[in-house]
Amino acid sequence: MEFLHHLQIQASQSGNATGSNWVHSSGEKIESFSPVNGQLIGAVAEADEESYEKIIQQAQEAFLIWRNWPAPRRGEIVRQVGEALRKEKDALGRLVSYEMGKSLQEGWGEVQEMIDICDFAVGLSRQLYGLTMQSERPAHRMYEQWHPLGIVGIISAFNFPVAVWAWNSALAWICGNVTVWKPSEKTPLCSVAVQQIIARVFEQNQVPEGVNCLVQGGRTVGEKISRDHRIPLVSATGSTRMGKALAATVAARLGKSILELGGNNAVIVSKDADLSMALIGCVFGAVGTAGQRCTSTRRLIIHQSVYERFQQQLIKAYQQLKIGNPLDASNHVGPLIDQAAVDQYLQAIERCKESGGKMLVEGGVLSGPGYESGCYVKPCVAAVHPNMEIVQQETFAPILYIMPYQELEEAISIQNAVPQGLSSSIITLNLREAETFLGVNGSDCGIANVNIGTSGAEIGGAFGGEKETGGGRESGSDSWKAYMRRQTNTINWGSQLPLAQGIQFTITD
Ligand code: NAD
Repeated sequence: MEFLHHLQIQASQSGNATGSNWVHSSGEKIESFSPVNGQLIGAVAEADEESYEKIIQQAQEAFLIWRNWPAPRRGEIVRQVGEALRKEKDALGRLVSYEMGKSLQEGWGEVQEMIDICDFAVGLSRQLYGLTMQSERPAHRMYEQWHPLGIVGIISAFNFPVAVWAWNSALAWICGNVTVWKPSEKTPLCSVAVQQIIARVFEQNQVPEGVNCLVQGGRTVGEKISRDHRIPLVSATGSTRMGKALAATVAARLGKSILELGGNNAVIVSKDADLSMALIGCVFGAVGTAGQRCTSTRRLIIHQSVYERFQQQLIKAYQQLKIGNPLDASNHVGPLIDQAAVDQYLQAIERCKESGGKMLVEGGVLSGPGYESGCYVKPCVAAVHPNMEIVQQETFAPILYIMPYQELEEAISIQNAVPQGLSSSIITLNLREAETFLGVNGSDCGIANVNIGTSGAEIGGAFGGEKETGGGRESGSDSWKAYMRRQTNTINWGSQLPLAQGIQFTITD
C-alpha cells in the first residue's frame, strides 16, 4: 500500500480544512473501510459546529480577495492543479480504487477526468463571455456580464469520490468562487488526499486560505450546508431521495442548487444493431464499477427479432466475467461499497423474482479467499416486464433487466416510462431509427447516445439529466453559467434620458 504512504494518508486525520490548514474538530469519528478487503484505511472527524463556522468564515474572507484576481490568473492556478494531478495520477487512482472499490483502470480514469476538466477550465477562464445587445434607446449601450456567486457548496456521492468534486471546483474557481466540499462519508480519505495535493499548488501561488475548503460528515453536515444562507449555490450529487430533501431546503431560502441524482438508464438494441458492438457496450455499462455508476446500464430493451440471440450472447459474456480485487487488472468486477449496498442488491433480486422476473444469470454474494469483505456480488440478468415496480427504481448494483419490444415507438416509450432521466442509448445502424431516438419524440434523458452505451461521458459535454435525476448540468459546454450571476448593464452615454418603451415622464421646474 505504498500509495497510502505516498499520499500521506495516516490512520487518523482531521479531514476538515480551510485549504492548507487542517481545522481541529471534536466531531464524531468517521472510519473508512476498504470494500476491497474490509481493512480499516483511516478515519476523519465529522465537522462540529465550531470547525464548520471557522471554515465557512474563512471561505467568506477568501472570496473577497479571490474574486478580484483576473479570471485568466485563476485559470493559471487551475492549470497547475491539473499538472499536480498528472503527477499524482497513479497514487490517487489507486486510492480511489481501494477506498471506493472500482477497478484500477476506472480509478485512474477518474483522475484523468479531473485533469481534463482542469484543462477545460483553463481555456474557459478566458472565455466567460457575456452578450452585447442592441438598445432600443439612442446613445445607449446594453450588455451582460457574469460575476461570481460566492461560496459554492459541493456535496458528492461515494461512487465518484474525486471526479465530481473536480467538475465543480475547477469551474467554480475560474468563475471566481470559493468552494466548500463535503465528500461522501463513505470515501473521506480520497478527499483528504485531494486536499493535500491542491494545498501544495495553492500555497506555492499564495492563493488565499479559504478558496478550497473541506468539511467531513454525513447527512447532518449536508443539511447544514443546504440551510446555510452564506452558501448561494449548492451542487449536490447523490440519490434522488437526498436531492428532493436538499432541493426543498435550498429553495426555501431561495438559494440555487445543481442536482445530479439517480439514473435508470436503458439501451435500446435494435433489429438493425451491430450486435457485437451492442454486447460490449451493454455488458460494460451494466457491470462496470459493479453497477455503481449513475450512468450504469440497468435496462436493455431488445427488438423481438434479436431477443433470443442477444440473450444467449449476454449469458455467455456474463459467464466469462472475473470478479475480484479491483486493483488486479485482470478482474472485470470489483466489490459493492458496503454491506448495506449488498443487502439492497439481494432485496432487489428477491423483489424481481417475487413480481415475476425470471433470472437468466443468477446473482449471489461471493465468499471465501479474496472475498473476505463480504461486498463481492455476482452481476446478474433478469427477464422482466417493463412495468414491474423494481424495474422503475435505481438499484445501485450490477442487476440488468432485459425486455423485448416490437416497434421503435414502443421501445422509446418503455425507455422514457421511468421516473429518472439521466442517460440513454440506441444501438442501430439505421439512420431513421437513430434520428427518431434523438428527436423531439425520442429519449427524454439529459444524455442520449447512438452506438455507444449509457455509461461514461466526456467532460466536454454538459452532464446531467431530467425528471428525478434533478435537471442539473455540470462539466462542459456552458455549464459554467450556473456558477455565476448574470448582470444586465445599460449605459446611457448621451445627453438625454429617454425611458424604455417610449414612456414620457416630464417634470417642470
Ligand atoms: P447519497 O444520496 O446517499 O449521498 C450523497 C451525498 O449526499 C453524501 O455526501 C451524503 O452525505 C449527502 N446527503 C445525504 N442525505 C443528505 C441530505 N438530506 N441533505 C444533504 N446532504 C445529504 O448517495 P450515494 O449512495 O453516496 O451515491 C449514489 C447515488 O448517487 C446514486 O443514486 C447515483 O445515481 C447518484 N449519482 C448521481 C450522479 C449524477 O451525476 N447524476 C453521479 C454520481 C452518483
